[in-house]
Amino acid sequence: MPSHNLASIEIDNLQIIGYSVAGEETVVAMPQLDVCFDVGKAPDQIIPINHVLLTHGHMDHAAGIAYYLSQRNFCGITAGTIVAPSNLLGPIREIIDAWSRLDGNPIPANLIGVKPGDEHRIKPNLFARVFPTKHSRGSVGFTVIEKRKKLKAEYVGLNSKQIVELKKQGFDIDYPVEIPIVTYIGDTQYVDFSQLKYIAESKILIVECTFYEGEHAARAEAGRHMHIDEFVTLLNNLNNEHIIVTHTTQRTPMREIRRILKNALPKDKYDRITLLMAKRPRQTD
Ligand SMILES: [Zn+2]
Ligand SMILES: [Zn+2]
Repeated sequence: MPSHNLASIEIDNLQIIGYSVAGEETVVAMPQLDVCFDVGKAPDQIIPINHVLLTHGHMDHAAGIAYYLSQRNFCGITAGTIVAPSNLLGPIREIIDAWSRLDGNPIPANLIGVKPGDEHRIKPNLFARVFPTKHSRGSVGFTVIEKRKKLKAEYVGLNSKQIVELKKQGFDIDYPVEIPIVTYIGDTQYVDFSQLKYIAESKILIVECTFYEGEHAARAEAGRHMHIDEFVTLLNNLNNEHIIVTHTTQRTPMREIRRILKNALPKDKYDRITLLMAKRPRQTD
């Protein structure tokens, strides 16, 4: 039996699996994209995924780093890649080294430090773009973007022979397009993310909303998390087709969260929302 009862959502043949409860554990993976956003306590199901994109160093998001890497080695899989804010690379290296000494075996790791604006290549046409969040020093979020080439309008309708001929003659027949597939915001207080077009236009938005009740606004501010009022403002300016809410709290029951969201959001926005933790196979709430 796998270590975790992970939630599972499917959107247009893309599976999203994960677990996310504020202060306890957050890990959200998309196996077909070969990425795992944050690593939580490294559930078994994410071990084969090659890229962990770490948003910040809080224990509930990062505890499983060494276990993830070590399990891959144990299973004979190539070293995992951890993409993390540059300022965390030193401490991550120290943790891996300490575990290697404790365990008595080396732990292969591919550590990549990033800062806002950077891109990390996942597959030949797939990139993770890094943007800043406001949570802890150096904290970031990621958008996974597919880069394609599109035929210019004047050449649409030509057959492949004609296209090859034009290419041979040196014509510039296509132009680059970017398709933002998914944005994972991670932990953050309110930022107007609509300023970044690739976030506003991402097909899927995975976003935290930690606090749902009026009196929790000050706690959201103190912990640098999002409160429902800010969440509503944020969604106003975004165009995502699917919105997956993470980092919910045990303080507010799932059905209550659903009721609050329904009252607070316009219908067309509410209809796009999925609460990650409501999608576990053995859901009791
Ligand atoms: Zn957290
Ligand atoms: Zn955090």
